Amino acid sequence: MGILTVYDNKSCKHGLKSAWGFACVVDRRILFDTGGEGSTLLSNMRALGVDLSRIEALVLSHEHWDHTGGVSAFLEAVREAGKEVRVFVPCSFSSGFKQKLSASDAVSEVVEVQPHSPEKILGNAFSTGELGTWTKEQALVLRARKGLVVVTGCAHPGIVNILRYAKEAFNDEILLALGGFHLGSKDVTHAFRRLGVRKVAPCHCTGEVATALLKQAFGADFVENCVGREIEYEAL
Ligand SMILES: [Zn+2]
Ligand SMILES: [Zn+2]
Repeated sequence: MGILTVYDNKSCKHGLKSAWGFACVVDRRILFDTGGEGSTLLSNMRALGVDLSRIEALVLSHEHWDHTGGVSAFLEAVREAGKEVRVFVPCSFSSGFKQKLSASDAVSEVVEVQPHSPEKILGNAFSTGELGTWTKEQALVLRARKGLVVVTGCAHPGIVNILRYAKEAFNDEILLALGGFHLGSKDVTHAFRRLGVRKVAPCHCTGEVATALLKQAFGADFVENCVGREIEYEAL
């Protein structure tokens, strides 16, 4: 059980590909985002031993190419495996994109998550619902034994806003924040501390300066994240 990063700007293992974008596999059953390019996504998933036929849900954080670029290739691979997935998208996704999903033989259902309405995906995994005003985005929340694990694509609505929202909506502490935080050189360490965030695993678009600040502030609670890293969140 864990969060396996399969697409990121950085790779931490030889033989895995890195490219601008983000995707991770949650507990081997959910694919969160698809990176920017299908062949890179599938190549990394294969190299990391992800069994496509076990994936039951695809969750797309927001409609940017570096998160949705691998969708067609992934669905084609699911179809070839004779399987289907449920797809969760923010309701504001373009109608063309949603129509394409609905038309796929590999999609059993397109679930449009509504603004500020948490929605169960499967097991202990939930969507926050659609957040933000400009670029709308959903984050994924896992209810772990020691708190919440919050996974973000780019965190365009603001990583601090997303974490504050998750904490309130799911009424639990933040054990781990993981994914792209889109900060550039912004310092969120104090805001994270105030929210009681225990551990961080930033990657993708977080920004080098912001990542270095988080690393310095969180020390041993900073978890390196890159393609090939599987974070066993229940063991944190
Ligand atoms: Zn984005
Ligand atoms: Zn991005």
